[in-house]
Amino acid sequence: MGKKYVYSFKEGSKEMKSLLGGKGSNLAEMTNIGLPVPPGFTITTEACNRFYDEGQKLWPELLEEIYLNLAEVEKTLGKRFSDQSNPLLVSVRSGAVFSMPGMMDTILNLGLNDDAVKGLISSTGNERFAYDSYRRFIQMFSDIAMGIPKRKFDEVMEKMKEDKGVHLDTELEAEDLKELVRRFKDVYYEDMGTEFPQDPMKQLQLAIEAVFSSWNNPRAVIYRKLHDIPGNLGTAVNVQSMVYGNMGDTSGTGVAFTRNPANGENKIYGEFLMNAQGEDVVAGIRTPKSISELEEVMPEVFEEFRKVTNILESHYRDMQDIEFTIEKGKLFMLQTRTGKRTTQAAINIAVDLVNEGKISKDEAILRIEPNQLNQLLHPAFDTKKLAESEVLAKGLPASPGAASGKIYFHAKDVVEAKGRGEKAILVRQETSPEDIEGMIMAEGILTARGGMTSHAAVVARGMGKCCVAGCSEVRVDELQRTMKSGSITLKEGDYISLDGSIGTVYLGDIPKVEPELSGHFGEFMSWVDEVRRLKVRTNADTPKDSAQAVKFGAEGIGLCRTEHMFFDEARIPAVRRMIVSNSETQRKKALEELLPLQRKDFYEIYKIMEERPVTIRLLDPPLHEFLPSNAKDIEELAKSMGIAAEDLKDTVESLEEVNPMLGHRGCRLAVTYPEIYRMQTRAIIEAALDYKVNDGVEIVPEIMIPLIGDADELTYVKKEVIAEIEDVFRERSDSIEYMIGTMIEVPRAAITADDIAKEAEFFSFGTNDLTQMGFGFSRDDSGKFLNAYVDKGIFAKSPFEVLDQRGIGKMMEIAVDLGRKTRPDIKLGICGEHGGEPSSVEFCHRIGLDYVSCSPYRVPIARLAAAQAVVKERMNLQLDK
Ligand code: PEP
Ligand code: MG
Repeated sequence: MGKKYVYSFKEGSKEMKSLLGGKGSNLAEMTNIGLPVPPGFTITTEACNRFYDEGQKLWPELLEEIYLNLAEVEKTLGKRFSDQSNPLLVSVRSGAVFSMPGMMDTILNLGLNDDAVKGLISSTGNERFAYDSYRRFIQMFSDIAMGIPKRKFDEVMEKMKEDKGVHLDTELEAEDLKELVRRFKDVYYEDMGTEFPQDPMKQLQLAIEAVFSSWNNPRAVIYRKLHDIPGNLGTAVNVQSMVYGNMGDTSGTGVAFTRNPANGENKIYGEFLMNAQGEDVVAGIRTPKSISELEEVMPEVFEEFRKVTNILESHYRDMQDIEFTIEKGKLFMLQTRTGKRTTQAAINIAVDLVNEGKISKDEAILRIEPNQLNQLLHPAFDTKKLAESEVLAKGLPASPGAASGKIYFHAKDVVEAKGRGEKAILVRQETSPEDIEGMIMAEGILTARGGMTSHAAVVARGMGKCCVAGCSEVRVDELQRTMKSGSITLKEGDYISLDGSIGTVYLGDIPKVEPELSGHFGEFMSWVDEVRRLKVRTNADTPKDSAQAVKFGAEGIGLCRTEHMFFDEARIPAVRRMIVSNSETQRKKALEELLPLQRKDFYEIYKIMEERPVTIRLLDPPLHEFLPSNAKDIEELAKSMGIAAEDLKDTVESLEEVNPMLGHRGCRLAVTYPEIYRMQTRAIIEAALDYKVNDGVEIVPEIMIPLIGDADELTYVKKEVIAEIEDVFRERSDSIEYMIGTMIEVPRAAITADDIAKEAEFFSFGTNDLTQMGFGFSRDDSGKFLNAYVDKGIFAKSPFEVLDQRGIGKMMEIAVDLGRKTRPDIKLGICGEHGGEPSSVEFCHRIGLDYVSCSPYRVPIARLAAAQAVVKERMNLQLDK
């Protein structure tokens, strides 16, 4: 016997999803657990692939298999195709493995022809119903299977109503509908040049071909591309005997969820219509009733329905989304699948299912996609209002959340607008550290350039502020204070809205809703924390961010970028004086001004973090980032320093670099100006001593030196750092424990990690720079071309978003191995942006890091991803056994 391409519902099961598609496998499952499912069969996804191999034709053996299965259905029901007393009619539906909009959906009442319509009259005693079904079928079949525009039928219908002087379809009588059938057949003939097919087998064949062909229609292809669904999966086709929800007052049809998909409440949620057929419920022609009313209308059916939903939930062990029909008081199930739900509902349902003893905690943990938690942590747009809004442009989803406000093109204008009580969106070509105040004051940030690790993206994520970056569809003119997208030009003060979770920019001010962190969230996260091995820290530079992160469950700070403290308006003059000073004495004087401020910053952060570990990174960015660029600011600075503006301009120019990311930054700054790191070290240690003396809490600060590429660099810098610490201890006649470690973010450091570990007590992987330097992709400019890599399938995702495990990850593994060889108890973490990305977190678990560190709003996501890594590991172990 050849390959089997057709499975009766009695032969399939839910495990056969890839062969039978989602719908088909679940229809089979329901049939086999004894639920009332109208008989039918599924033509497999493999048949779809062969259909293309055969030149888009059904082959004789397949038709034979279909025929045998049809005969079986006829026998079961005692009905026959084209029968003049009791005809069989079927529905034909597509059913891919993943539900997919854009494909052919449903044809109902297939099998109707001039004989079967008589049969339908005799079996129902309802001539009007029979002709109404026939004319619907001709229209649906012609439109969906044969591509004849629906409009042509609508016109004929309209004309008929006009001639009859009626308004509603329901006012047409049986005779009118009979005439309409005749006219519809004419429309078919005019368009196709052939008669409307009377042979049900022919109808069925054409409908099946239409489903298979729709697998490759442009909308479906685009959808697959967007959701990474492989094109070779194919779709299945389900052929199922019809039941009628439109047979009078004891018939009806509906859709329902076994629990509320919006909030998870354990109560059946759905809608139904009496005396109606499938599409009427969703088409919005009549207003459906809430499912709870079914209890009043048909209590017995409702009771059975409730039983069925309980069976389905217990069987699938998850909330189900179902379709049903009631034919003359008898309930039939037409579909079940795992229901889509909001994150809040997902968590509530998972927790309830555990408490009801239906699933284990491990299963509950795996059921929430970590990134989904974003929905809970940030405000979101009102979905109704969003649907009415116009999309202006698409960029990168740099930092999640929803924001609306008037657009301003300069940070200081945002600050002023905020002062006037306005809500503002900062729109820039790209942001720079100078924009920090405007970024803090803005509701959201939009940049035309820059990738997922650009300044705007990193800073916005740190603040939990909505940001769309790299939106190259908009042209930003900062001088003219305008932005253009296509034919639309917006000027300062116009409203836009940003969705940072998907990178979309909308016109206008869209209302938002604050999500609630429900009670079950805490319970769920406590399970997550019981399971995970990785610790989760945060990247935070301010007391406010630190406090937010602690609320989200951060267990320490993995990266405090000290430079962000330098951009404060009150401090930047001293920072600038420190940079442009031409003598060590001058520089030390400027550093002395900064010391008490930094000490206070650290003290405040320690107080919030209490006993939790805090890693502070010494200064990292190239110095020119701190310098003024416009003439007015240069003049002001020159004046405050008592030097000529011209001279200062020369100094500023001399500090400019062609490749600043590969330039004078990180530990290189300490090689040329050791006093900068000495000041920062002093601030860190003095603040810790203050904390010990004032508050009685003894912490172990972790001092982190960035951008090391060679062990000897670290030896040199560390010597300076320790010398300063010893000075402080001596002056204060007191001491504390401390640790000195480094970031691994230069490829050379990764492969000489055994040497580096001789000096470093901990490593923190700076995977932003490690990716930049490993690939040679500029963090700031690669946004321009990385999209093309993704579009052309060279990369699945940008390596700045999702860690490249094979390459960059390999370097990490080497470094972990070498580092532990030298120093078995070396502490290992990650603080690049990947530390909050689920698949990268899982990788960090596998290679044995001690912790991940990410921006505050990603902390819950990282906690969940770390727990999932453990659960998956356990499952694999079980499989191995
Ligand atoms: C990194 O390079 O991954 C890192 C965390 O440092 P930064 O992003 O500040 O360069
Ligand atoms: Mg770095």
